[in-house]
Amino acid sequence: MSRSKAVRPSLPRSLVLSPHELAAIVYHVEGAYPEEACGLIVGAKPVRGRCVASRVVPSANVATGDARHRFEVDPALRLKLERELRESGGAVLGHYHSHPDHPAVPSAHDLDRAYEPELAWLIVSVEAGKARACAAFQIERDTKRARPIALEMAGDAKAVAKAKPPRSPRKPK
Ligand SMILES: [Zn+2]
Repeated sequence: MSRSKAVRPSLPRSLVLSPHELAAIVYHVEGAYPEEACGLIVGAKPVRGRCVASRVVPSANVATGDARHRFEVDPALRLKLERELRESGGAVLGHYHSHPDHPAVPSAHDLDRAYEPELAWLIVSVEAGKARACAAFQIERDTKRARPIALEMAGDAKAVAKAKPPRSPRKPK
């Protein structure tokens, strides 16, 4: 199926997370350290590129190879979610993954694998087991260029791009 170049899907321009959603992501990626963790970000269909999350869905990292440097969201989870969202009217807005001991910017490998320009990318840098920074991007499929997009906290008008995520809840044990 070919899609005309003129009919581009609306590209993400900003990603809005609630403090609770960000905390859930931080909890997941810190727990997976030193491996990369990943998951999906779900919400209502974006309006003019503004992606407002209503839920984060942690995934197993099913990447083949070294999971400290690679991530892949479980395709079965994605499929199940898409099916569910077709009924509820929501959408997969993007995904998150962590960079253990690496900065919160797309790696060369990430750029290579950016097939879906309509998805927002959230990258969390985890240093020595602690989430230190996060940033959101939109990645062009053709040029492999990453564009930073605003990362906002729900209920907070000012962008928090590159802000420190809040402390994750204490893990049991
Ligand atoms: Zn990456």
